[in-house]
Amino acid sequence: MKKCLWCKKNETIVSFEKKAHTIPKSLGGQSYNNNVCDSCNEYFGNRNNHNGQYSIEEALKEAFNISRKRFLKENPKRKVGRFKSKFFEVKSKNGKYSLTIKPSFRFSAQFQKELCRAFKRGLYKMFLEELNRQKDIGYEKKFDFIREFARYNLDDLPIIYFRRSFGAFLMFDREAETPVLYFDRMKYLCSDDKFIEIEFLGHVFGFPISYVDEKEFEEYLKKSVKAKEGFFHDFVMLTKLTDIDLALSVLND
Ligand SMILES: [Zn+2]
Repeated sequence: MKKCLWCKKNETIVSFEKKAHTIPKSLGGQSYNNNVCDSCNEYFGNRNNHNGQYSIEEALKEAFNISRKRFLKENPKRKVGRFKSKFFEVKSKNGKYSLTIKPSFRFSAQFQKELCRAFKRGLYKMFLEELNRQKDIGYEKKFDFIREFARYNLDDLPIIYFRRSFGAFLMFDREAETPVLYFDRMKYLCSDDKFIEIEFLGHVFGFPISYVDEKEFEEYLKKSVKAKEGFFHDFVMLTKLTDIDLALSVLND
């Protein structure tokens, strides 16, 4: 019997009629998770369930679409429209791209904080749905804290973003078109039973997938940074989206 990955209600109580994209369709995502009920699916996609301005899924899409367009633009044969974003401005000067927040939002401290939280919840959502789709796990109690954060907006979970040293990285031809979430593509991705690292559109994120103490966090970071030597120069605990190299300035030069 079907059971929802988020609310854990089964199909005698909730319906499973709509297709739930694990990666937003507007980002080119083509995979579905069949274990997301209609009401949870609607929750992530509807801005009125969030702050009335944008939904959890939209926060994710607005951010990653900038990177996606940047990759598509790398291919000269391809016609890509202007970078259009609700929140960001992408400027291009002599083939170099940079990212700023739109003036209408720039001076609101609350805006950055709220957008970053929505993005983090969206990333955890995408992660758990893809984990479930790819590896057939995710209902375990140890993932409840992800459900609480992503679906029920409780607590705050950390996400670490690793900054690349240079722009030569592996992307399949169609990957920008139809982005894929990778769990173990490269040797520098450092996952164990307490932490996971994912790669998406050239970006590498790490986060805990179980309760960890400070010491475990430190040890993980040490191990992870070592595995990334030569590829990444540092990391940051995400507090605002401009911490992420969304415009892929690492490809400039
Ligand atoms: Zn549900």
